[in-house]
Amino acid sequence: MILCANPKAQYLLYKEEIDTAISRVLDSGWYILGNEVRLFEEEFAGYIGVAHGIGVGSGTEALHLALCACGIGRGDEVITVSHTAVATVAAIELAGATPVLVDIDPDFYTIDPDKIESAITSHTKAIIPVHIYGHPADMDPIVEIAERYSLKVTEDCAQAHGATYKGKRVGSMGDIGCFSFYPTKNLGALGDGGIVVTNNEKLAEKAKLLREYGWAERYVSHFPGWNTRLDEIQAAILRIKLKHLDEDNLKRVRIAELYSKELEVCDIILPKQRKDSAHVYHLYVIRSERRNELLTFLKEKGIYALIHYPMPVHLQPAYRRLKASDKLPETEKITKEIISLPIYPELSESDIQTTIKTIRDFAGAAND
Ligand SMILES: *Cc1c(COP(=O)(O)O)cnc(C)c1O
Repeated sequence: MILCANPKAQYLLYKEEIDTAISRVLDSGWYILGNEVRLFEEEFAGYIGVAHGIGVGSGTEALHLALCACGIGRGDEVITVSHTAVATVAAIELAGATPVLVDIDPDFYTIDPDKIESAITSHTKAIIPVHIYGHPADMDPIVEIAERYSLKVTEDCAQAHGATYKGKRVGSMGDIGCFSFYPTKNLGALGDGGIVVTNNEKLAEKAKLLREYGWAERYVSHFPGWNTRLDEIQAAILRIKLKHLDEDNLKRVRIAELYSKELEVCDIILPKQRKDSAHVYHLYVIRSERRNELLTFLKEKGIYALIHYPMPVHLQPAYRRLKASDKLPETEKITKEIISLPIYPELSESDIQTTIKTIRDFAGAAND
């Protein structure tokens, strides 16, 4: 069986270090907002190249907290894409704001900067570019539009830990960056977790208070907040995995390069990388007009490819009521064609070769 992602393989690789770290936290008697979280926040912010990190309960909560810290709420509109994890859109509504969904660039699948301006109204307060699959959104035009209209940029980096755009890490280019540490992400905890990063001291301070009931001092709320904290145990695990993140991302890139080299002959569209960007291949997504057949063919051979995502947010039952700024043709087109091949740092050479051979067989069979 070849899985699309496999967090257990990474746990086993670092098992000794991780088990020791977990024991250290258990023995410390301090389980919430202690040294591990404080150190991880510093280390992760340093890695991204920003001044502040605020550990939270999940990626969804990171986005929710970031928007609230920016003062975004009821009556405000936030522009993002429909081609994303539903969490991006859910977080906008958690903050009380209204999502406005625009189309993607057909080559890189990230927000199409040319579609943003026509979606802006007098209520628009922020843009959330999503660095989907590990490839950075085209940040320069996005930041330029945001500055011109005084909008906040909240980066959704949940799939792109370590990816760079013009030499800068994602999460460092907007007003605030949001990461998820869901176990299958490029930097994954062994449970839920997330972080908000920013260079803006005021936003960092606000986010820190909101994450814990609006407390400026213990038991005294200065404004209404809630609870979304990163656990000490997860922070201790993440500190170990952060040390290996660049090396793990390189392993993903190597697998992607192998796939791209060997699958070029097939009648499929391969993932592209913008010249100014470094992709970290959270997912390796190809496109085929015979996607459903390919998915079944792979499954019969024990290869569990997945679809990210089978239904864009604006077509899902819960979100059909939302205003999409237009019909989102690129989003709807790729949804029928995309398929995510197995990719994770520990994926074995033989599993990579089996996957390549199976897809080549599938493509070859079509030519008979
Ligand atoms: C995973 C993900 C999230 C949500 O993160 P959780 O930790 O699962 O809440 C948000 N946005 C994108 C693009 C994601 O891939």
